[in-house]
Amino acid sequence: MSAFASELANRQPLSQQRLLATSIPGPRSLELMSRKLGAVAAGVGTTMPVFAERAGGGIVVDVDGNQFIDLGSGIAVTTVGASAPRVVAAVQEQAAAFTHTCFMVTPYEGYVAVAEALNRVTPGRHPKRTALFNSGAEAVENAVKIARVHTGRQAVVVFDHAYHGRTNLTMAMTAKNMPYKHGFGPFASEVYRAPLSYPFRDGNRDGVLAALQAIDIIEKQVGAAHVAAVVIEPIQGEGGFIEPAGGFLPALATWCRENGAVFVADEVQTGFARTGDLFACDREGVVPDLIVTAKGIAGGLPLSAVTGRAEIMDAVHIGGLGGTYGGNPLACAAALAAIETIEAEGMVGRAREIEDLMLARLRDIQGRDSRVGDVRGRGAMIAVELVHAGTDVPDPELAKAVAAASHQQGVIVLTCGTYGNVLRLLPPLAISDALLHDGLDVLAAALAGVR
Ligand SMILES: *Cc1c(COP(=O)(O)O)cnc(C)c1O
Repeated sequence: MSAFASELANRQPLSQQRLLATSIPGPRSLELMSRKLGAVAAGVGTTMPVFAERAGGGIVVDVDGNQFIDLGSGIAVTTVGASAPRVVAAVQEQAAAFTHTCFMVTPYEGYVAVAEALNRVTPGRHPKRTALFNSGAEAVENAVKIARVHTGRQAVVVFDHAYHGRTNLTMAMTAKNMPYKHGFGPFASEVYRAPLSYPFRDGNRDGVLAALQAIDIIEKQVGAAHVAAVVIEPIQGEGGFIEPAGGFLPALATWCRENGAVFVADEVQTGFARTGDLFACDREGVVPDLIVTAKGIAGGLPLSAVTGRAEIMDAVHIGGLGGTYGGNPLACAAALAAIETIEAEGMVGRAREIEDLMLARLRDIQGRDSRVGDVRGRGAMIAVELVHAGTDVPDPELAKAVAAASHQQGVIVLTCGTYGNVLRLLPPLAISDALLHDGLDVLAAALAGVR
């Protein structure tokens, strides 16, 4: 055993508690931050002022020994935990065997096994195929490429508040200008935006009606015969954890089927037990033609996938899909271990328990504080939309202040939303109830402390 491997084996398991050892940020994080400013491009920002050293369960430890409760999972990535035992073991074993050959040169079993696993666990029992990539954005782009070849059409329909990534095509598909698109144009063409069902803001709880309004715009402004794909997040992520009213997704899927368009679910953020179902589409029994996954897929290693109907996926000519690192063997080993962990540990059920705990606590806070406009979400993907007291006017300053105060008290919490006024809670499913309660106590105190 190498010195490093034996050190790893001897490490104590991370104590699952919040602990403030220094002021936040501590001296070593301050020093690293000044090195970051001198070495890393300014455009790469950070949410937290501290540098990580270790993470596991529901805890992130910084370089000064502070222990943070993780309500972010590295943006919904470490769903099974930041160093889930099965993932660590699988990656170590694969790293010792080989780190890369390129699947397009010398293929290996891990890639095929991940494809088989995704074909098995994604919605629908029809014949499927999968292709693997590195990032969510890359997979979204490939879903569009596949849909265009299959349909022979070009137009891509996306929605208000959508987030699909930062590459040129996915910037065009993403709604929000600042910071994702500002100054980065011109953007890819043939991308069209339709209105989303957003019950808190449009006051409409009839998802079928909302879908008919979106469909009317698609038919009038794009033309059904031009639509290659309708791409939608079943619950929006960066856009504000917006859950469309019931019936919205099924109505859109039906319209796609009737009009020869490919219905693409971007489950990059909602996938892999995050929302209390294996995939968010499962809740209403929606079967997408293509489903895009990434983030929670591989316990923290970079991997993404497009999975879908065999006849659509196989429409692309041989050699048309791929990439040097797509389906890297380490990432594939991690994905198989993450999927096994989700199934063996009953993590879908755990996500629903986390939902019950968080919604109860947050609705209690909402009942006492009229600045909490809306509490929503499913599973371990829960949002608090903050407004000026008693109105529906977004209050991004309040969200920022509550997040910053929580960071100071040892809780990692993120904000999101078109208006920047949404606190989003994305704990790893490996977190304990005790840590969740402590984290929500801190959040409640932070909210009460900002006036
Ligand atoms: C994060 C995200 C993406 C982009 O994934 P990257 O891995 O950052 O490229 C795409 N779609 C959704 C819904 C996301 O949440």
